[in-house]
Amino acid sequence: MADAIAMRRSAKVTKDHSDESNNIRIVVVSATYGTTNDLVELATKAPTSPWSDCKPIYQRIEERHLRICEELNAPEKTIRAVKKLLTEAKMMSKGMNYLKDCSPKAYDSLVSVGERISSTLFVLAMQEVYGSEIGIEWFDAREVIKTDEQYGRALPELGKIAKLAKEKLIPIVQNKIVITQGFIGSNEEGVTTTLGRGGSDYSAALLAEAVNATELQIWTDVPGIATTDPRICKNAKPINEISFTEAAELATFGAKILHPTTVWPTMRKQIPIFVGSSIDSGNAGERQGTWVREAAKETPLVRAIALREKQTIITITTPRMVSAYGYLADIFSIFKRHKTPVDLVTTSEISVSLTVHDQDLLNKELLDEVNALGQVTIENDLSLVSLIGNNINHTSGFGREILNSVGDINVRLLSSGASKHNFCFLVDRNHANLAIEKLHEQFLEN
Ligand code: ASP
Ligand code: MG
Repeated sequence: MADAIAMRRSAKVTKDHSDESNNIRIVVVSATYGTTNDLVELATKAPTSPWSDCKPIYQRIEERHLRICEELNAPEKTIRAVKKLLTEAKMMSKGMNYLKDCSPKAYDSLVSVGERISSTLFVLAMQEVYGSEIGIEWFDAREVIKTDEQYGRALPELGKIAKLAKEKLIPIVQNKIVITQGFIGSNEEGVTTTLGRGGSDYSAALLAEAVNATELQIWTDVPGIATTDPRICKNAKPINEISFTEAAELATFGAKILHPTTVWPTMRKQIPIFVGSSIDSGNAGERQGTWVREAAKETPLVRAIALREKQTIITITTPRMVSAYGYLADIFSIFKRHKTPVDLVTTSEISVSLTVHDQDLLNKELLDEVNALGQVTIENDLSLVSLIGNNINHTSGFGREILNSVGDINVRLLSSGASKHNFCFLVDRNHANLAIEKLHEQFLEN
């Protein structure tokens, strides 16, 4: 939400598209448009640059929110609450500036301010749209979303979340609408944590799971899930319905519309997800967008094509692998120790290639440890192209069709067979868009 107009529009979406007979209605909001990016920039600059470089970033955040206060005719009480949160952000970033340090713990506290302010303001937009019809209650998500201590990418603790939702959230939500924050949580001691960038969807899914919701709606700025990214391929088409498994693959393999983890909580409880655009949400009761469910009525061979950029291949070669055992375990234990996710793996007699997302490979110690196991080569600037669908690896001739349609583009590493829903390969970054256009034309345009 970029401004008061977007806030009012979003509040109206909740009214037009929710079932009033439902006695539990929870609205989870992200930070206002651009704010998390600004806060991240502030946390990055504060320890390394003079305050004069940081101040304009802080001021941007301040102006944006004070303007929304004005546009929403905020009462004194809300203005005070917003100013208090802004002061908190300023003090924290000034502290980082003095100390020349921003620990992951401090980083999470600072970026959490975005959601805390937006949710405070969103209460006003909701009150305006609902009038005296129903009470609107602000709720601090950190009281329920309990996580471990991996700051910046904390893992939720499901048992605790379910218990706290029952104790603290369900009692207040009866005959009221609760507004709370996505993205943020807290650890055992109550210290603020975050679930990772884009984590608001995940928060919403976790809450849906914890309160046994009948559905989860995600309203964003695009009209649902498409067959591929419309910015890459102008012939991309909307998808009306998709299964949980396909949606999970699609999100993991690059479609930015859903955070990859969002599907899991809803899948565990079989809660359908609806994804639609808050800008064009359709009339009350008639939604346009994508339903994600346990099973979709149609099960096409290829449902969608995803792109994941910034992939790196690490290849480890050593004759020690011949007829040996435990070698893969040794490699993977290094990645486990460094909490680095591995995406794809292929092996041959004396070498193993695995892929990671660039951002996960900043760690020099990890590379030193891998180096000790064999000769290591690293290839950057690759993109992962994935075809997501049904029975993909159980359809004869299909692999040939895929490779034929990408023609002369060099396929660097290929993974197929582990899932019935996915066939994926890496290509040079500069060839990825062309590969997607060709595949889309071949499999999704007739
Ligand atoms: N505000 C957070 C971010 O920008 C979470 C989200 O928007 O989902 O990453
Ligand atoms: Mg988001």
